[in-house]
Amino acid sequence: MITQTAAAIIWFAGLVGWYIIRHPFARKAKRIAITTSLYDQRETFLLAFASFGLVVVPAVYVLTGFPALLDRPFVPAIAWLGIPAQCVALWLFRRSHVDLGRNWSISLEVRDRHVLVKKGVYSRIRHPMYSSFFLLGVAQLLLLPNWLAGLSGLAGALVLYAFRVTREEQMMLELFGDEYRAYMTNTKRLIPWML
Ligand code: SAH
Repeated sequence: MITQTAAAIIWFAGLVGWYIIRHPFARKAKRIAITTSLYDQRETFLLAFASFGLVVVPAVYVLTGFPALLDRPFVPAIAWLGIPAQCVALWLFRRSHVDLGRNWSISLEVRDRHVLVKKGVYSRIRHPMYSSFFLLGVAQLLLLPNWLAGLSGLAGALVLYAFRVTREEQMMLELFGDEYRAYMTNTKRLIPWML
């Protein structure tokens, strides 16, 4: 049996897991020089919007129950499904950090001696980290019985992805040219062989 409180705790554990995975990479990244940066106001807004949807809105709901007006019935079977969704999301989030290694940035940035990563989870899809954000959003929707707190994660991931992906691929094309063009023909963006 899974209760509403247990589901909220599982959602929160996912947030903690997310931080534990990201923190060492963010710390190491500070020491690697950036040669080109497209980290502008638009990027700041996108990152803030994604954090708002994936962290702030669900955290407010879990802590205060706001907005109760948008509550939906708690269905244990649905909440159960949130657990594998969250586990896969965190696994993919970690794998994409490990595979990207020193080439990772929170925004659109080129690092000193940046290389094009095509191995591991990047061998099938070009944006596994964004896929993991969408999966986290799905887990949030399944775990939290509130329409706003449930859907805000997916909205945050969608806005970040939609307004960033073309620009990111353009940046990669300028940097890696034909190598990235060939990589694009052999991979999908988010879901292997599909999308
Ligand atoms: N869009 C990717 C990476 C997100 S991190 C994903 O969803 O997994 C964003 C940074 O990763 C960008 O600044 C870009 O410089 C870098 N990047 C994206 N794809 C890359 C790749 N295949 N190889 C190396 N760096 C990449």
